Amino acid sequence: MSGATIHVVGAGVAGLSAAVRLADAGLRVALYEAAGAAGGRCRSYYDQALDLMIDNGNHLLLSGNAAALDYLDRIGSRGKLRGPSAAVFDFADLRSGERWRLRPNDGRLPWWLLDPRRRVPGTALREYFAPLRTLRTTVTTSLRDIMTCSGLLYDRLWGPILLAGLNTDPPEGSALLAGAMLRETLAAGGMACRPLIAVDGLSACFIEPALAYLAAHNATVRLGQRLRGVEFAAKRAIGLDFGPHQTRLAEDDAVILAVPSFAVQELLPDIETPDEFRAIVNAHFRIAPSADQPMILGVVNGLCQWIFAYRAHVSVTISGADRLLNVSREDLAAAMWREVAALGGFGPKLPPWQIVKEKRATFAATPIQNAKRPPARTCWANVALAGDWTQTGLPATIEGAVRSGYRAASIVLEGRSKVHVRTTARVRREHYG
Ligand SMILES: Cc1cc2nc3c(=O)[nH]c(=O)nc-3n(C[C@H](O)[C@H](O)[C@H](O)COP(=O)(O)OP(=O)(O)OC[C@H]3O[C@@H](n4cnc5c(N)ncnc54)[C@H](O)[C@@H]3O)c2cc1C
Repeated sequence: MSGATIHVVGAGVAGLSAAVRLADAGLRVALYEAAGAAGGRCRSYYDQALDLMIDNGNHLLLSGNAAALDYLDRIGSRGKLRGPSAAVFDFADLRSGERWRLRPNDGRLPWWLLDPRRRVPGTALREYFAPLRTLRTTVTTSLRDIMTCSGLLYDRLWGPILLAGLNTDPPEGSALLAGAMLRETLAAGGMACRPLIAVDGLSACFIEPALAYLAAHNATVRLGQRLRGVEFAAKRAIGLDFGPHQTRLAEDDAVILAVPSFAVQELLPDIETPDEFRAIVNAHFRIAPSADQPMILGVVNGLCQWIFAYRAHVSVTISGADRLLNVSREDLAAAMWREVAALGGFGPKLPPWQIVKEKRATFAATPIQNAKRPPARTCWANVALAGDWTQTGLPATIEGAVRSGYRAASIVLEGRSKVHVRTTARVRREHYG
């Protein structure tokens, strides 16, 4: 193990994936987290009202999320994801009562579009080409400028998946981000779109195994440590201020700031970051799903958008949910339960419930906010940034968070190999002339 320490601040998925990569490379890692537990926006906790462990929000991974799956392989927990062996998405329309199953074929050539039984009912083949221009776009513009955001297929497919991916009302969403998301999923064929869920909870899959991996690699993890300031000299970070305790950095130490964009804005005001956010509201009901309830159900023409079935509870996701932040939790639970009960064949009696409102769930995936995302490399030689809000080319997702963590780790590793080359050259000069 080398003498330098890499200080990773923020133990969300981005910080953890950076720490894992660095520990893997044999570097000494110190990870700091402001909260009392790791995981950030991707975590589980015990909920008293439900007497259950629940996630802060339902998280869906797709089989094409290569970096996220690589991260799970490294920490040994890919097996904790569950999902069908093919891309299958069940939908229900609350207004018409129709139900259907979307079944893209495995390969890139989308022959499934020719089979009306695999498509959305009532839709024509040509409607599936609506987002084609987003796949090729290189300009900073909103989706509404290059795609028709209306019509039956938009309401039943493009709208729901774009809203889920961007967490932003699709018409105002960034066409670049929508294109990147579609390129890596539907346009890459069914094998890239198999839905995957951490059925035993987010922490058991994404967080705890990473902490165990870090402990086994001699990393230190300090919870309850909020970074309050960074001291700089000669274009390098030289100290970290955690309030009651200060950390002096050695000459070859490096820092990865894997905190949310609003925290970076306070710590490093000269760096421009996204500053507009969108909410996600989740409802959790303690009731066992019915035997035939799909793992995920897309809901059209309802308040609920996606219904997830776990072993002992059923959860609902509503993205782009800012309009609901001021609605009372009781009203939200009652309204969502009416829909869940109608679709799942449950009685009207409301089971134990919980509502989780994540106000700043993700940055707003608009062209303006996307343009504010900074690269991982900073003007300080030993400081890199990580987080789903940095310039990953993707919307705010686990996949983006892991890529950002890996990118920051690569910058640190590159910096170290340069130092190593310089040091070796100096030693050679001193010893051999
Ligand atoms: C409700 C919800 C549903 C979602 N659904 C999905 C989904 O289905 N699929 C998907 O791919 N993604 C989903 N996401 C997005 C995904 O959760 C995020 O992209 C990812 O977790 C971001 O990780 P991160 O490490 O970049 O940031 P964070 O998780 O925000 O981590 C930052 C960490 O830094 C810590 N911190 C902050 N300030 C300081 C400080 N000063 N000092 C030390 N530590 C500090 C924070 O406590 C936090 O732990 C969802 C998000 C939410 C909220």
